[in-house]
Amino acid sequence: MADMTPAVSFRKVSRHFGSVRAVDGVDLDIVPGEFFAMLGPSGSGKTTCLRLIAGFEQPSSGHIEIFGERAEGVPPYRRNVNTVFQDYALFPHLNVLDNVAYGLMVKGMAKAERHRMAEEVLSLVRLPGYGGRKPGQLSGGQRQRVALARALVNRPKVLLLDEPLGALDLKLREGMQEELKALQKALGITFVFVTHDQGEALSMADRVAVFNDGRIMQVGAPEDIYQRPRSRFVADFVGSSNVLPPEFVQRWSGQARWGSLRPEAIRVQKAASGEGVAARVVSTNYLGSSTRLALDAGGLRLHASIPAGFYLPDAGEAVVLTFNREHLHVMDESA
Ligand code: ATP
Repeated sequence: MADMTPAVSFRKVSRHFGSVRAVDGVDLDIVPGEFFAMLGPSGSGKTTCLRLIAGFEQPSSGHIEIFGERAEGVPPYRRNVNTVFQDYALFPHLNVLDNVAYGLMVKGMAKAERHRMAEEVLSLVRLPGYGGRKPGQLSGGQRQRVALARALVNRPKVLLLDEPLGALDLKLREGMQEELKALQKALGITFVFVTHDQGEALSMADRVAVFNDGRIMQVGAPEDIYQRPRSRFVADFVGSSNVLPPEFVQRWSGQARWGSLRPEAIRVQKAASGEGVAARVVSTNYLGSSTRLALDAGGLRLHASIPAGFYLPDAGEAVVLTFNREHLHVMDESA
């Protein structure tokens, strides 16, 4: 049977800075080999959680285990965990090969051996032959890969990535998302990835933890988080869903609870074309593959996403909205 000891577990972990509860009673198990994303707005405690795993911070209360071992008192360099920072933190005066081999040098490995291992990892991140360059002679995406190689060369069991794609432009970012995910699957290393980008978390991770105010609001597979948010916060933060008040939800489901409805689940038709929710188009926002409509349904603000090629009303027009009842997700929160 596979060993089910979590790669990382948090038990009621808090980290307070004066009166700021950066991390507030977090319970968490990260499965070995999974790609785990920590998603949340700025200041929600994601980076602090990562630093707690790395050992750069200590919990104010609670405890952390890494592969079943208590982490308290274990210094960062003995944790079998490596971090890729957002700014890459490469040494500008060292060439790429020595940057990558740095951790091995610190461990006292002989030059020939550490250079051989660094070359190997550079091939893995698709930078073979770049060893002689200085970081300043690389593109942003290449520097990002060097930073990744520098962490991977230590063969960590857990790799921590703090917004590693934050400095890249959109195109490069999308390419790197695919590469990172493929690399993670190939290596089988546990990745813990911090981001405030919903799309990035949903597309890359096996599971996502949504943070707010130092707490985890929900943990689950991307589809769970997206389709079945448990609270208004998650519905709103993960993909700008329509959050519906209990009065509205009760009319359709009989339950007086908050609900969510994805913009793409709403169909928009000309007014007087049948039953549905009467609304007026407030604005239209062309996005290429779809158009986003802001709608006013008797004081309730809704958004609908209309794929290219479908009926598109003008701003100010009266319309009727329909949706399949099963797309209306009823959340745990009641009135
Ligand atoms: P971002 O996406 O902006 O990086 P985050 O979710 O990673 O945000 P953290 O960096 O973990 O958030 O910060 C959580 C809270 O703790 C913030 O209010 C922050 O100001 C505070 N904080 C973090 N580190 C310290 C520190 N060393 N001293 C005081 N307050 C801190």
